[in-house]
Amino acid sequence: MNIILIGIQGSGKGTQAKLLCERYGWIHITTGELFREHIKNNTELGKIVRTFIERGELVPDKYVFKIVEKALREAERKFVLDGFPRNLSQTEFLVEKFTIDHVILLDLKDDLAMKRLLARRICNNCGRDYNVLFKKPEIAGKCDVCGGRLVKRKDDNETAIKKRIERFHLETNSVIDFFRKKGLLIKINADQTPQKIHSQIVDKIR
Ligand code: AMP
Repeated sequence: MNIILIGIQGSGKGTQAKLLCERYGWIHITTGELFREHIKNNTELGKIVRTFIERGELVPDKYVFKIVEKALREAERKFVLDGFPRNLSQTEFLVEKFTIDHVILLDLKDDLAMKRLLARRICNNCGRDYNVLFKKPEIAGKCDVCGGRLVKRKDDNETAIKKRIERFHLETNSVIDFFRKKGLLIKINADQTPQKIHSQIVDKIR
């Protein structure tokens, strides 16, 4: 089964992808994460994409296609894709080469996304994510797993979040429309507990 998860930042895409992969053994592919890996390893591609990412711009399609196609082929028809496609040409590229079974839209109002992102904390040691509203650590400010310090992501401030939310709508509306017309779109209310959202997804993709 090949699934795409679409949702505004803060809608819980990462959590839902994790739950689906645990349940079905699928592979979670996130383009942002693939790029960050390349940057960390200082690969040729990493050097090129870093400049775009640091400026907050989309990486040009030709580099995105390279990295995504390789990852999707390796997943052998069992992937949960997030962060891609982000525009119509990426969408066309994807559906030409791969079968997509379902596209899940985690629907969350902008003001709720803002509230959640402002409450998000990340462990500065292991990267695990928390939320001071609904996913609190056992000891305030400390990671449950490694004891690392919980910090805010640099781009989780009101101005940067607003920008990301605007960009999400600008980029992704055409992608949502494309899959809606194809009859592949499943819209789920993301203002529910992660477990409830997961059960609804499982019900719909059966
Ligand atoms: P994200 O973690 O999804 O916010 O992605 C981080 C950055 O990686 C984005 O701001 C873009 O610069 C780049 N990126 C991720 N996915 C794509 C994509 N599908 N197309 C172009 N650029 C992307």
